[in-house]
Amino acid sequence: MIIILRSQAADEEIHAVEQRIRDMGLEPHVSKGIQRTVIGAIGDESKVDKEALEALNGVEKVVRVMKPYKIVSRDSHNAETVIDVSGVPIGGNTIQIIAGPCSVETPEQMEQSAKAVAEAGCRLMRGGAFKPRTSPYTFQGVGVEGLEMFQKAAKAHHLPIVTELMDVRMLDTFLEHNVDVIQIGTRNMQNFDLLKEVGKVHTPVILKRGMSATISEWLMAAEYIAASGNHNIIFCERGVRSFETAYRNMLDVTAISVLKRETHLPVIIDPSHAGGKAWMVPSLSRAAIAAGADGLLIEIHPRPTEAWCDADQALSPNQLNELMVELKGIAQVIGRDL
Ligand code: PEP
Ligand code: MN
Repeated sequence: MIIILRSQAADEEIHAVEQRIRDMGLEPHVSKGIQRTVIGAIGDESKVDKEALEALNGVEKVVRVMKPYKIVSRDSHNAETVIDVSGVPIGGNTIQIIAGPCSVETPEQMEQSAKAVAEAGCRLMRGGAFKPRTSPYTFQGVGVEGLEMFQKAAKAHHLPIVTELMDVRMLDTFLEHNVDVIQIGTRNMQNFDLLKEVGKVHTPVILKRGMSATISEWLMAAEYIAASGNHNIIFCERGVRSFETAYRNMLDVTAISVLKRETHLPVIIDPSHAGGKAWMVPSLSRAAIAAGADGLLIEIHPRPTEAWCDADQALSPNQLNELMVELKGIAQVIGRDL
């Protein structure tokens, strides 16, 4: 930790800061320059209260040297982590396209969706039985029954399932239904109690980025899950809030580069909730794969215009097939499998 003092800091103030650093269990090393003095505090800074030091007289700024996240950081584990989702790897050289409807609707819709997903060559399926909707008067998801419908349809096509958990009271039900990947949605990225609970199980978790979360906050949210014991975490960028109104959210492609440097965990992109329109999904998907994403989470529907939720952004089975061909070409160019 580095403590930068004000240019006018008096000697007594500097001594008081040194003493406070010692009281915190660190060793101060003072460097006096012509303009100002800086103190390097050596030792375990993880438990040091930065604000308490900043509040001392004569202190201008305190800078942490250590990252506030550990388990998810590349500093703790340099090699890329590959997460085993019921036999399907996420991370590593193979790119995974997870496709499926926004929400589980009926057994027929789920069977047709699963068939389309498998036929397009995708190895995992998405679908929400519990939907986080902005209005309480819109369709909220079919609930537990949806988990059953989803498992039945996906199993018939050997597809592990990804589905959103909103309420911690449903965690046991998710485990009983053998949910292969628990999705934590954008609205719950900082629901710390929920993160701690999914941290206590071993089911892989897709952690979506909060719609206004910084990358650092997102990494800290993942650290909550990891610190509770579950290291099977997949980051999912789904677009962030911006000033632009021409699309639903702004896909932050830069986040792929930053996360790939900061963490060893897989990073996937949701182009559907970013663009919010089906016609934007192919170009955003191509950009994501070219930028190094380990996979995509895409909404499809057997009859998009009839979808009960997010109809505007769902691809048809044909559109998914076409997209898979394009993405295979990009994967090949960058030396990855799809
Ligand atoms: C979803 O994937 O179904 C969803 C609701 O996404 P988000 O949390 O990114 O809005
Ligand atoms: Mn949706």
